[in-house]
Amino acid sequence: MSLQEPELVDVVIVGSGPTGLMLACQLSLHGVKFRIFDKCINHTTQSRALGVHARSMEIFQQMGIADEAINHGEVVQGFGSYFNGVKRMRMDMNLIKTQNLTHFPFILILEQSKTEALLEEFLLKNARMEVDRQCELISFIELNDKDNLIECVIKDYRSNKEGKLIKIHTKFLCGCDGAHSKVRQNLQLSFSGNTYEETLYVLDCHLKFMDTTETESLLDDAQFNLTKSGLCLLFPLKGHNMDNRWRVIGTVPHELLNSSKQLQFEDIAPDFSRRIQRNIELYDPLWLSIYRTHHRYADRFYIEKKYFLLGDAAHIHSPVGGQGMNTGLQDAFNLAWKLAYTIQGKTVDKDKLLQTYNDERIEVAKNLVQSTDRVFSLMTSRHWFFSFFRLKILPYILQYIVFPIISCISSVREAVFKRISMIGIHYRQSQLSMNSNKNNVQAGDRLPYVYTHPEILLSSTDNNVEDDSRRYFHLLVLLTSKSNSKKCFHFVKFIEENYSHLIKLHEFEYSAATKEIFRVYDVNRNSNGGIFLVRPDLHIAYYSKTFDIQHFNTYFSEYFLQKSD
Ligand SMILES: Cc1cc2nc3c(=O)[nH]c(=O)nc-3n(C[C@H](O)[C@H](O)[C@H](O)COP(=O)(O)OP(=O)(O)OC[C@H]3O[C@@H](n4cnc5c(N)ncnc54)[C@H](O)[C@@H]3O)c2cc1C
Repeated sequence: MSLQEPELVDVVIVGSGPTGLMLACQLSLHGVKFRIFDKCINHTTQSRALGVHARSMEIFQQMGIADEAINHGEVVQGFGSYFNGVKRMRMDMNLIKTQNLTHFPFILILEQSKTEALLEEFLLKNARMEVDRQCELISFIELNDKDNLIECVIKDYRSNKEGKLIKIHTKFLCGCDGAHSKVRQNLQLSFSGNTYEETLYVLDCHLKFMDTTETESLLDDAQFNLTKSGLCLLFPLKGHNMDNRWRVIGTVPHELLNSSKQLQFEDIAPDFSRRIQRNIELYDPLWLSIYRTHHRYADRFYIEKKYFLLGDAAHIHSPVGGQGMNTGLQDAFNLAWKLAYTIQGKTVDKDKLLQTYNDERIEVAKNLVQSTDRVFSLMTSRHWFFSFFRLKILPYILQYIVFPIISCISSVREAVFKRISMIGIHYRQSQLSMNSNKNNVQAGDRLPYVYTHPEILLSSTDNNVEDDSRRYFHLLVLLTSKSNSKKCFHFVKFIEENYSHLIKLHEFEYSAATKEIFRVYDVNRNSNGGIFLVRPDLHIAYYSKTFDIQHFNTYFSEYFLQKSD
């Protein structure tokens, strides 16, 4: 055992699951010096989280890996719902496509192992960085030095199996170390919530649909099954139409729970058809895991101005809606630019911007835990009333009320899709969101989808790393014939003179080519126009239609330094 001279970095990331990897990728885009450690020898080979939602795809798009993700995955075409083996409704994802809500109007089925591989590859290509594997965080303490550094003690098992202790000093420590987070435990944070009664099995195997009348329409659909034996979800995996590979997630039948031996595929498969009341054969298992689900979240995600919790370390919930991994990816996207700006001395205060990570993401986690808990409890509760309701009443509500409404009323469909795909998540209540006027599109909202955005906002500029547009705020200036050109000119000049190190400008004059942008941003051609400041994580920070320099500067200078400061 030997101790080396401690290395100093800005950020230590513990854990290289999807959350830690996303944080590493984003920090690398912002040029932050960090190290990422994981105790495992390799990234997961298990498929685990499968659904990648539109909001996560938008992040992948900004990173330039969305097409690759789609190539490796399977786009879900629809959702079928079966109650006691009878198909009650099918939600066709094509209905969403026409609504221009996102570039990704679908759910992508991509195994977690593939998502992690994509992110690791990005990290290697973009930053020539690799995860330090077989390196376990053992402990950490605060040093009482002038920089308030943290000393992390890592056990490195790469060279010998007893492990070599390494010390590393850092300004910030990010716990992306999963549900049993050592970072969270060492900080003695509560992780309150509950464990569900039901145990789940997660199984990748081959399926044969024996009922030939329904086979054709099923091939690309995700399927939800509810019977008195429990809940069961089926998801098509990449290439399933060639080799019939599917993911099956179900509640473990009660009669199998009492057995003392580890549950095997052979316990689940023989009786599967009877339990879901459909003629489906399971064969050739690839992977099976049994797990209890919980709903819990930590009481703080940003602690003592230097520790962060993200992903499963901060919040865990039932697999309803497949939101777990996506929320972790989005935590990392929210935090990375704030950390980078603080470390790079672009902020007025060392704490204020980072605090918004806590405030914005804890709200998202709370809402998610509560909503997934309600649905999961309704679907799995053993109480006789819930059991009666979900099998005798719910099918009719879905078939005769919910389905016709979703099919016919586009605004309802939009609301449902926004919730599932996570594109509806907003930070309107955040201290960082400021409006000077009322508008349908407000500060805190996700950057609305307009087909012209990607080239303007998302990609880097000529591979010039320093000038990578992903590091910047973007000010969208929407001008009409009624805009006060003098006021507007002064506003733009002010930004150029004082904030061009942080903000890139994009002016749009109303025309046939740009009118879609005006429509989506809710700026009337007969109005004075408007300005929208977009954060590096593609949420709107500020909206105004008055081009008022003082109002803008009072807001922005509370967080960010001017060039001359
Ligand atoms: C069997 C199973 C099936 C699942 N199925 C689904 C699903 O269908 N849908 C869904 O949305 N979610 C599912 N999940 C949950 C999903 O996998 C998680 O939400 C997601 O992995 C969270 O990512 P994360 O990066 O935050 O944490 P994790 O993926 O847990 O990654 C944490 C990482 O930290 C490392 N680590 C931990 N402690 C230390 C330490 N002290 N030092 C160094 N490294 C450390 C671990 O090795 C691990 O690599 C499933 C989970 C499991 C276990």
